[in-house]
Amino acid sequence: MDSRRSIPRTDDLLADPDLAPAVARAGRDRVKAAIQQAQQRARTGELAPDAVKRAALAALTPLRRVINATGVLLHTNLGRAPLSPLAVRAIADAAGVTDIELDLETGRRGRRGRSALATLAAAVPAAEAVHVVNNNAAALVLAATALAGGKEILVSRGELVEIGDGFRLPDLLVSTGARLREVGTTNRTTLRDYAEAVGPETGFVLKVHPSNYRIEGFTAAPEVAELSTLGVPLVADAGSGLLRPDPLLPAEPDAATWLNAGAHLVTASGDKLLGGPQCGLLLGRADLVERLRRHPLARALRVDKLTLAALEATLAAPATPVAAALHADPEALYVRAQALAERLADAGVDATAVRTEARVGGGGAPGVTLPSAALAVAPVLAAQLRSGDPAVLGRVERGHLLLDLRAVPEELDKELLSAVAACG
Ligand SMILES: *Cc1c(COP(=O)(O)O)cnc(C)c1O
Repeated sequence: MDSRRSIPRTDDLLADPDLAPAVARAGRDRVKAAIQQAQQRARTGELAPDAVKRAALAALTPLRRVINATGVLLHTNLGRAPLSPLAVRAIADAAGVTDIELDLETGRRGRRGRSALATLAAAVPAAEAVHVVNNNAAALVLAATALAGGKEILVSRGELVEIGDGFRLPDLLVSTGARLREVGTTNRTTLRDYAEAVGPETGFVLKVHPSNYRIEGFTAAPEVAELSTLGVPLVADAGSGLLRPDPLLPAEPDAATWLNAGAHLVTASGDKLLGGPQCGLLLGRADLVERLRRHPLARALRVDKLTLAALEATLAAPATPVAAALHADPEALYVRAQALAERLADAGVDATAVRTEARVGGGGAPGVTLPSAALAVAPVLAAQLRSGDPAVLGRVERGHLLLDLRAVPEELDKELLSAVAACG
């Protein structure tokens, strides 16, 4: 049989009610083009004929809301930190015309994002000055370019990390024209290793917090306080974006502690444990921050007004969804899971409340597990839940699909319930 005959026809798909919202949103021509592309893939055998509609829909669907039931608080593939309602409102308010770079009192040009920067500076009094760029990678690029262009960056062999998706910190640093000078070994690096490498060619010493793995056993690495005595600037990449210590994550570095210990510049992400928008924070000595701010590259890495607005709102009200998920009471999560399981039983869906372990995620605290609770349902539901709107993403473990509640705000329980009940 010629399988091409069973490929759905363009006109039939264009009239399909499932594609009607896409036609309304994206226009008939774009939908037609997506259908024809999917049909072509079916003709070459890449797609099954009955997958054509789904492929066309997928190509036309904008970002979809996802309920993060993975138990991974900061899920890079899900956009890391969900913003607080206040931050979302701040974005909407900033989206129109604002005084982002104007002093309304004098009518003259003002420092861009001064109010967000002042809020950040107030949140980290240990920093003499602050600057914000597009993300932590940009913060490192700016530091490397402005402070070590044509010179050397000293970094321990144990801290040459790959962040994810093949993205390697050493490659990023070298791309700026700085030279990497590796010191020590994978598991042990001493202050002497650094001291022997410091010279006129040194731009700065870089300390990187290994945020997504741990080296255990026979290890050594000098503390920030020791590294700050080498007579050259110490740039410390804290990764996770904690501004102050969090008792729940004692091994996770924070900007205030590192600055107080002597780091001259700390970099961090805004959308990890800080729970804010994607951005890179640069905190530290006034002269270094000024050099970064004045560097021509700073203009290419600057953040937009929406990011500044969201960052300011996040700093002003640090009870973010990430903080709520991190500090959720495991017993309360279990009670929620039990209540949901009962409601699902009423709807004819087999679900049990189970105790689980959640994780902070690629954004920090490797090896830390957070006691949590989940709904355990049949693994066959995974695909159906992923294709819903909102999509629900869980994790398959021990032969079950676990819908972990730690990263699911309680307000979403109703939606979670309807999504799972619809699978019954
Ligand atoms: C996440 C991370 C980065 C990259 O941060 P982005 O904000 O994603 O650019 C760099 N260094 C460390 C240690 C990290 O944890």
